[in-house]
Amino acid sequence: MIQVQQYQHILQQTTKHKAQLIAVSKTKPKEAIQELYDLGQRAFGENKVQELVDKQEALPKDIQWHLIGSLQRNKVKYIAPFVHLIHSIDSLKLLQEINKRAANEGRVIDGLLQFHIAQESTKFGLTIEEACALLDSEAYQAMEHVRVVGVMGMASFTDDTNQVQQEFEQLYQHFEHLKNTYFSNQASFKELSMGMSGDYEWALEAGSTMVRVGSLLFGTR
Ligand SMILES: *Cc1c(COP(=O)(O)O)cnc(C)c1O
Repeated sequence: MIQVQQYQHILQQTTKHKAQLIAVSKTKPKEAIQELYDLGQRAFGENKVQELVDKQEALPKDIQWHLIGSLQRNKVKYIAPFVHLIHSIDSLKLLQEINKRAANEGRVIDGLLQFHIAQESTKFGLTIEEACALLDSEAYQAMEHVRVVGVMGMASFTDDTNQVQQEFEQLYQHFEHLKNTYFSNQASFKELSMGMSGDYEWALEAGSTMVRVGSLLFGTR
């Protein structure tokens, strides 16, 4: 079921760029995840909370689970005990809920601020102004159980590589701006999550540290 050669090729590319591969297993069966796990893959991404929880319960406990889809506040509690990284933080209220649930679990949960960089209005995420307002807020500064470690974004779904490259470049600029303005003494702010099956090579060229690849590994959904 797994595209083994494709997997090895992508791993080579990510290694060359010192980036990490997140295998996006949404909609795919546990057997497929286990197969990739047996090849050595440990980081997997899901976009739905219920599916993530079901898979986490059934699969090896050393898997690092990444939540990459939009997250409703009332569902944070289900993933708070185990989630490795939340890629899709797009509001102060969501951060507050993550902070609260992480505190209940005695954990610090890592997250990325999701930016809106694509032309499609259906894709969600913050503007740079909104992100700065969030990081400037007293509420954020008082949080002890959530740690912002970088940014995430999705480029437009288009064949226009120029457009995609521009969007990745913009996300890189946002990342640099936040790093210099808010995180200059925090080495933990280092993740730039961008790139999917159709554009991960461009993303790596543009400085991505985490590519989220699904269909190239597991086949089309
Ligand atoms: C589905 C998804 C991916 C992976 O998409 P592919 O095109 O299958 O590689 C990456 N990021 C997010 C946020 C997704 O929802």
